[in-house]
This record gives sequence, C-alpha cells and structure tokens, in this order.
Amino acid sequence: MKPSIYGLTREEVIKWALDNGEKKFRAKQIWDWLYRKRIQQFDEMTNVSKVTIDKLKEQFCLNPLTQKIVQESSDGTVKYLFELPDGMLIETVLMRQHYGLSVCVTTQVGCNIGCTFCASGLIKKQRDLTSGEITAQIMLVQKYFDDRNLGERVSHVVVMGIGEPFDNYKNVLSFLKTINDDNGLAIGARHITVSTSGLAHKIKEFANEGIQVNLAVSLHAPNNDLRTSIMKINRAFPLEKLFDAIHYYIQTTNRRVTFEYIMLNEVNDSVKEATELSQLLKDIKKLSYVNLIPYNPVSEHDQYSRSPKNRVSAFYDVLKKHGINCVVRQEHGTDIDAACGQLRSKTMKKEMAV
Ligand code: SAH
Ligand code: SF4
Repeated sequence: MKPSIYGLTREEVIKWALDNGEKKFRAKQIWDWLYRKRIQQFDEMTNVSKVTIDKLKEQFCLNPLTQKIVQESSDGTVKYLFELPDGMLIETVLMRQHYGLSVCVTTQVGCNIGCTFCASGLIKKQRDLTSGEITAQIMLVQKYFDDRNLGERVSHVVVMGIGEPFDNYKNVLSFLKTINDDNGLAIGARHITVSTSGLAHKIKEFANEGIQVNLAVSLHAPNNDLRTSIMKINRAFPLEKLFDAIHYYIQTTNRRVTFEYIMLNEVNDSVKEATELSQLLKDIKKLSYVNLIPYNPVSEHDQYSRSPKNRVSAFYDVLKKHGINCVVRQEHGTDIDAACGQLRSKTMKKEMAV
C-alpha cells in the first residue's frame, strides 16, 4: 500500500517537488488542491501537469481510510468508523460545540497504557497510525460537511481518541503541523489540544517544539498510590517526574496546562483528594485548569461508577476555595458511545455492528 500524501507536511511536499524536478510553486499548488480545494482524486488538479500527477499517483494514495459506519447522536455528535488499509478499524468523533466543530482523532489502534477505567486500553496496541492516517480522519469529517454544502469547517481538534499520542510522537507532531498550516486547513494552534496520560520525557520534548497547541494531562489522582492503582503508567512516571516535566513545560512555553480528572465514585472524588489536588497545583494555579470529567461506565471495568452530583460539587467547591480554575465537563454523544473513553479500536471486521 502506498503512503498517503496527507502524511507529508508542507515542507515535505516542497522537498518532494524539488526532488522530482518541479519548481517550488508546484508544491504550493498541490498543497492548495489537497487542503483548500480538498480534491478527492489527484486528477482533479487541473493546473498540474499530467506527468506530475502521474508521479504523485505512483508514489502516494490520497485518503487511505474507508468510511464504514457513520452514527449521528441526538445532540449532533457524529461517530465515524473508519477502516485502515490493513483492515483495522478506528473511530473518530465530531462534536458540535457552541464555538464550532470539534473533531476527536485516534492516534493508535489500541493502547498499551491500559488505564483501568478506559475502553480504548482494553485492546493492546496493534500499531501506530501514520501521520497520513491521522490527518485523513480530519479530511473525511470535513468531506462530510463539504458534501452537504454546509459551508462549515472543522475549527477545533482534540487528540483524545484511541491511543496515547506521545507514544506515537513523531507522527502526531507531523499531523499537528499539517492541520495547523496557514495555507491549508489552518486550524489554529490554540484550537488544538493534545491529551497525554503523562509521558514526562515527551512532555519536555513537546515543550521544546515551539508549537502553540494546548496540552492536557490525564491526572485522575493527586497522590502516587491512588494514581498507580488507576493508571499503571504512574509507576514509570510518578507524580514527581510528571510535575517536573509539567513545570518545565510551563516555564518554557508560558502556556496553560489542562488537567483531566475523571470523577470515580468513592475512589478519587472525596474532599481529601480535592484538598490534595489543590496542594499539588498550588504553585502553578495561574497556569492550570482542571476539567472534572463524568465517568462513562465501561462494562469491563465494573469496579468504577460515576460520582453523584453532590460529590462532584463538593469536590469542585474545594478546588474553587483554593483558587484553582476548574470546570465540570459537558458530555457529548453518550447515546452512541461516542463519549470520552468509549471508543474501542475494533481490530476485526466481524466485530462490526453493521
Ligand atoms: N491517551 C490519552 C488520550 C486519549 S484518552 C490520555 O489518556 O490522555 C482521552 C481522555 O479520555 C483522557 O483524559 C482519558 O482519561 C479519558 N477517558 C478514558 N476513559 C474514560 C471513561 N471511561 N470515562 C471518561 N473519560 C475517560
Ligand atoms: Fe490509553 Fe488514554 Fe485510555 Fe489510558 S486513557 S488506556 S492512555 S487511551
């Protein structure tokens, strides 16, 4: 299978053009066809010579994903099931927010981090997605709107689907550069959020990239014992290491970090934990933001249940009292299993509920 041209950043398209005896402006035209005009076949590039189009066709495919199922929720959330060239299946979600259209992308088939509350981690990582396969998810969601002539544009992207983005760092970074490029989709860096379970060394590396996208860290517990029992990644990157990296990120970028905290009834949602969390964030409270996330029950993880409203509000009140910015996250698409942590990488075709 040929690689997708969506896997090339603009610099790489320019390099491709020059290596193939073309002028730089040819790369500009190609980029424009891909991301502004959003062609569905290379032949649609009417101002590009047939020789060049043939070279492109020889070396690349356009969109490597096949759309298998589209499910629309009553609140406008859309879940897409896409097939990769090797038959594996991934999910992508579109959420309609008051500020625009937000897409949640998948970065790996399965996830090796194996958090104890998450559906995506139930299947071990089968492979990383290529950068072309990640970008292609955005292109297909955008096509859904282009086909309906709705004039709507994907304006926000969250890297919060299946997989740990920092375990597929290079491809995710290339994807971020492509969707952020001013001459292409031009999705503003401040409208893009990457969520990590806390790979500390990668957080430092990310701080040095000079890319202005938002960083979210899945915290879920304010002390090592509890966090290790919920997320085994905490053994490799305990809170001391994680916060060392977060402090480095904040100092280097001067950007705010979002902390995701799933509210698990009587596990991590007491006033004691709220107080500990406030202490943990005390030094960086001006540049941190806590998202309290309602737990979406996963049948295989029946040790957890959703925190009731009174526990959530008591937790919230403690954070507020300590001056911590915090919000209780709204849910989307729960009726079609499109909510956070509900995405499962289905690796076999026969598992599909067509
Ligand atoms: N691997 C990355 C990004 C994907 S998970 C990470 O862990 O951050 C995206 C978010 O969904 C994370 O904050 C994760 O903790 C959350 N999530 C996973 N399972 C969930 C569930 N069952 N209910 C609510 N949120 C969940
Ligand atoms: Fe992987 Fe994130 Fe799920 Fe943990 S929460 S298993 S890191 S996808």
